[in-house]
Amino acid sequence: MMRHPTEHACWRLATALFVLTSASGCTPEFDMVLEGGTVVDGTGAEGFAADVGIRAGLITEVGDLTGRSTAERLDVSGHVVAPGFIDPHTHSRGTIFEIPTADNFVLQGVTTLTEGQDGGSPLDLAAFYDSLTTTGGTAPNFAMFVGHGTIRSEVMDSDDRMPTVDELERMKGYVERAMIDGALGLSTGLFYVPGSFAETEEIIELARIAGEAGGVYISHMRNEDVNVLVSVRETIRIGREATIPVQMSHHKVGGHRNYGQSEASIELMHVARADGVDITFDQYPYTASSTGLSAIIPPWAKAGGGLKDRLADPATRARVEDDIKGFVEMRFADDPSKVQLVSCGIEEHSAAAFPEDMAGWTLADVLDSRAAAHTPDAIADLIIDLDQAGGCSAIFHSFDESDVERFMQSEYGMIGSDGRLSHFGEASPHPRGYGTFPRVLGRYVRELGVISLEEAVRRMTSAPADRLGFAGRGRISEGAIADVTVFDPATVIDRATFEQPHQYPVGIPHVFVGGVAVVRDGEVSGMRPGQILRGPGYAGGG
Ligand SMILES: [Zn+2]
Repeated sequence: MMRHPTEHACWRLATALFVLTSASGCTPEFDMVLEGGTVVDGTGAEGFAADVGIRAGLITEVGDLTGRSTAERLDVSGHVVAPGFIDPHTHSRGTIFEIPTADNFVLQGVTTLTEGQDGGSPLDLAAFYDSLTTTGGTAPNFAMFVGHGTIRSEVMDSDDRMPTVDELERMKGYVERAMIDGALGLSTGLFYVPGSFAETEEIIELARIAGEAGGVYISHMRNEDVNVLVSVRETIRIGREATIPVQMSHHKVGGHRNYGQSEASIELMHVARADGVDITFDQYPYTASSTGLSAIIPPWAKAGGGLKDRLADPATRARVEDDIKGFVEMRFADDPSKVQLVSCGIEEHSAAAFPEDMAGWTLADVLDSRAAAHTPDAIADLIIDLDQAGGCSAIFHSFDESDVERFMQSEYGMIGSDGRLSHFGEASPHPRGYGTFPRVLGRYVRELGVISLEEAVRRMTSAPADRLGFAGRGRISEGAIADVTVFDPATVIDRATFEQPHQYPVGIPHVFVGGVAVVRDGEVSGMRPGQILRGPGYAGGG
């Protein structure tokens, strides 16, 4: 990449003319000109040849900027200049203080991280934002939902019952507070404890508070396999009755007998939207998910924190095992190699029962290490044993490529990684945290032709920006905030795999946040220009 510092020419001219010029007289028009690229502006419109001029954090001009004065000029010919990618679903708040440069995200071209999904968030958003600011900020922008599960746990622990009138009022109060503190809206994890114990009516009551403040409802739905369509309908109902835009997180269809239901889901969305319910979804481009292994243990068994006691009763344990076996058959056709461990927190007293480091092992590998058969009973016992020994996170291979592609062709979709911010080389995480965005651009756009480049970029930029209320972002246009990703459409691709997840993508040389390079020539710069993007109810000062 060639750079032409035209500022020098300005000073030489001034000196030659013996004119005493003030510094401002020679201030270049731009801080940066991205020269010779193809602008894919994020709206879905066809790409066009243009230079992009950036000044004071904004895109100030798009067009032919040949010969115009600039502090720096970057040759991006052969590359696409796109708005920075906005990830509407990440798991980054735990590690963002340790890795504020968010390497595995910014190297994918991501300029905004969204957190707080699946019903889990900090309870006090203002305090969290304060600590982000006082520790020096982040490279990407950062935004958050408030989690229903977090609020419900605070008020009702993990009780499997309806809230009392007073408890519901307290929960509403937490939602209201979070919206004032800048939440984007309310998230739920109805698949997880304690969200699974909430009736739809409880969610409607709470979502209405977020809706009144202009927020969005986003959900890891109650069910994503046998009853996925029931869950889509529940989400639509919440949108209608709470009068709030709704988004289904990481939309997918699990379980071999349920493959193909993406078609019916898209039709449900189509009808609901025609009926005035603003429903959308996000997805990641993989046929495997990732969450706690213990999510396979039925919620009823965990109610009130009583799992250990229930397992001690042989009859109850048998019921728990039956539910686990049903899930394992439905999702994985009883194949333990379809579940791969990310990392485990095996407690010391149980260390003897399991090898120290099982990251990357499948349940089949663990069964083999114990000389256990691959039977449904042995798999259920192993899942319980791992939970009781401290628990693991895992990857679950249970989706069909045709559903992934069909969802990707729906205009209601966005791209969201659901990925974690990772310490490079640690554990064996789902590759989505390293590869989601370049995988869509390389595999699904270039190699498979499932979606056009312009439409894919729209799903990563203006669609989530508009959905989440990020004004001035998600488009390459004059006056927009200069969150910009430069990638090579001929080479961009993910490299992270399930076997070797810690691999950065290729083909994304430059990424700017507010006009500041967070990735330059393929390297993380270390700069932390990210802003906290607060939601529409924010009532804080300055
Ligand atoms: Zn989720």
